[in-house]
Amino acid sequence: MPKTSILISISFIIGIFCIRYIQSFDRHEKEPFWHMFAVTCWGGVSSVILSFMLYAASHYLGIKEFHNSFGALFVIGPVEELSKLVALGACYFIISKQMNEPVDGIIYMACVALGFSLIENYLYATQGVGNEYLLLLRVLICTPMHISFSVFMGLAFYICLQNRNSFPLLIYAFIYASLVHGLYDLVIFNGLFLFALMFIFRATYTSALSFLSYAVAKSPFRKTLSQFVSDYADPRPEEGIECLHCGSKEEKLTYKRHKLAFQKCDHCDMYVATRKSILLIFHHFASTFKKLDDHMTSATFSGKQYTSIHSNNFISEQRRLGFFNLETFDQTLEELNQKIIENMDKKIWFPSKLFELRKRVVTIDYQKTAAESGKAFWHWVIYPYSSDRNKTVYTPPPNGPAWNWKAFLIPELWFLYHEIHGVFLLLLILFLFFGSFMFFGIMIIFSKWMLLILLCGRILAGRTGNQIYYARYGKWPD
Ligand SMILES: [Zn+2]
Repeated sequence: MPKTSILISISFIIGIFCIRYIQSFDRHEKEPFWHMFAVTCWGGVSSVILSFMLYAASHYLGIKEFHNSFGALFVIGPVEELSKLVALGACYFIISKQMNEPVDGIIYMACVALGFSLIENYLYATQGVGNEYLLLLRVLICTPMHISFSVFMGLAFYICLQNRNSFPLLIYAFIYASLVHGLYDLVIFNGLFLFALMFIFRATYTSALSFLSYAVAKSPFRKTLSQFVSDYADPRPEEGIECLHCGSKEEKLTYKRHKLAFQKCDHCDMYVATRKSILLIFHHFASTFKKLDDHMTSATFSGKQYTSIHSNNFISEQRRLGFFNLETFDQTLEELNQKIIENMDKKIWFPSKLFELRKRVVTIDYQKTAAESGKAFWHWVIYPYSSDRNKTVYTPPPNGPAWNWKAFLIPELWFLYHEIHGVFLLLLILFLFFGSFMFFGIMIIFSKWMLLILLCGRILAGRTGNQIYYARYGKWPD
């Protein structure tokens, strides 16, 4: 049906646009395209399968109809956000080496959300429920919304990898995402269209932008503008932009990064740039992504009138050119950065304490390398991606604490949380494999047995979780 394929193509194009847009926030250390692509595919598929299973479970628990206000808030929101979050965890083996700054968590979470939303749109379009305008509207705004909902979870995911004491932050972010997602669906189900929808859309987008700014401002790779200039390896003289300050049109040393470029005037030591590049400098060095129009003021410099964004830069609106003094402009940018971090930390609902990055301390009482102790299995379970046989594996003493409720109840998250990735992967494969069998009804007759196997696997994992933890860290879990 051509209508369906048009809808699907539109949703795909919007998806690509969203990812390009999200990528534009990745200022300081770009993520490789293929990693993002792999996360979109694998994360999308696993999150959709997971959400189907969770929906089936809620159906099993007696919630048969959830296209209403209750369902939006307490079923759809939590189910879909949890699926995306766990799917991001399932992508960890792809991205473990790439996750080195806060914005990376957001970017890969966005990829998972994109994959999820593309598959969901496809299902909606092919099922053709509802009228076409409704369908088109969904396809248009669904993907950006899905990405915006989970931005906070992506940030929290990164912070958790750095500091395991921040685990409550992940739960907090999950509740936030479920709530916003639920509200959005609630508005749609109740037919409170356009106005309410625009409101939610705007609010979600604005807060997503704040999280992004915060993440970029906290990037360990961020350089100040003057650091960027002093570290610049080899500025070359290029055709000169006219210096508004002294009028020099000669060749000037040029500094470039991505789309932004500025030049140093030899005559007056000012830096000159196009108006557009000055805006980009704000994005890049001051981590501000909101519209800068509200911060335009007029300013005079040696008797001439200019426009200035925030302060310490001087722009001629007619000529679309500007100039700045490196030191003072640098101060303005750093103050803005600081303000973004402070404003976020100050928010009542924002648990800034959980964002502190702490070093891990491990006490050692009895240790062997994996090669010495011959524990190939433990080694794989703890360090699945490493072939280094000399990694330390601790041997647990025979009488340790035998039971751990957290590990027993939700072993998947418990292992992920403690970075014991091998067991986490095993459980996830078990879960996805048998779970999808059950879901798609291929082995419907055996499904009770499958459920039993699944249950036993989880109990076993929960039961031995302590030992595995000890083998990794050399102490019992708290
Ligand atoms: Zn000059």
